[in-house]
Amino acid sequence: MSFISLFILLALLAMMVYIVGGEVVGAVRGTRYVLNYLFRQPINRYLIIRNLNPEYKKILEGAFLYYHTLNVKNKRLFEKRVQKFIDSKNFYPAGELLQVEPEMKVLIAASAIQLTFGLPGVYFAHFKDIYVYPDFYFSEGMQQFNAGEVHKAGRILLSWKDFVEGYVHHDNGRNLGLHEMAHALRLENMIKNEEYSYFDWEDIQIFNHYTVEESNKINQGLESIFRPYAAVHYQEFFAVLIEVFFEQPKKLKEYHPNLYLVTSRLLRQDPMRPNERVA
Ligand SMILES: [Zn+2]
Repeated sequence: MSFISLFILLALLAMMVYIVGGEVVGAVRGTRYVLNYLFRQPINRYLIIRNLNPEYKKILEGAFLYYHTLNVKNKRLFEKRVQKFIDSKNFYPAGELLQVEPEMKVLIAASAIQLTFGLPGVYFAHFKDIYVYPDFYFSEGMQQFNAGEVHKAGRILLSWKDFVEGYVHHDNGRNLGLHEMAHALRLENMIKNEEYSYFDWEDIQIFNHYTVEESNKINQGLESIFRPYAAVHYQEFFAVLIEVFFEQPKKLKEYHPNLYLVTSRLLRQDPMRPNERVA
């Protein structure tokens, strides 16, 4: 091929790129749609592209205990997943809060990834908007003061003060971040989108059986590891259990080994062995 014909070819190619330019985004979306249809699995589900922003990494290293229980390989994975969570959400300041600080984004994302670290494709796809209040707030929807809420419409609301307290007192079995993320996780499992139905159906049945058993114990005033609020609703039982599972795993395992086992199977992780994969 002569130099001139190569030049003409390149010029034509450049023209095509120019003309098609505006359609590139659409083409990428279209390709993803076709691949998703063919493989019935979203291809971007397991793709982790970005490393964690260095500023965010410092925050994570300085303030997140769970991260420090991980080995080097898992730490890198955790970091990338935190970045992906941050990239996929809108954070809004609410109430008196003027702006959502980097520390807030990182630790809220870390709380979500702590819960889903055994579920590699789960980023709470339905829950795009996170509202951060400085302190507890009056919820218009529930007509009461709240520290956190998860809306089926796709919003997560959190009081920053209560969120921080959850991690400062890291072994008292109370953690607002994990509690609200647990609500979102259970709802996400039921919403038909690309993250639908990641919990094993049989394990959920076993879990529900223990939920009824434990709630009955609480309602009868019998001694339980769970605070009374767990008996209000099966969704609350799951959220309260998740707090205890991560903050007092040894105590929970001694109290109810089978409940501990089924929870670690649902989440595919064991907080007492954070670097071992649960099948
Ligand atoms: Zn709750």
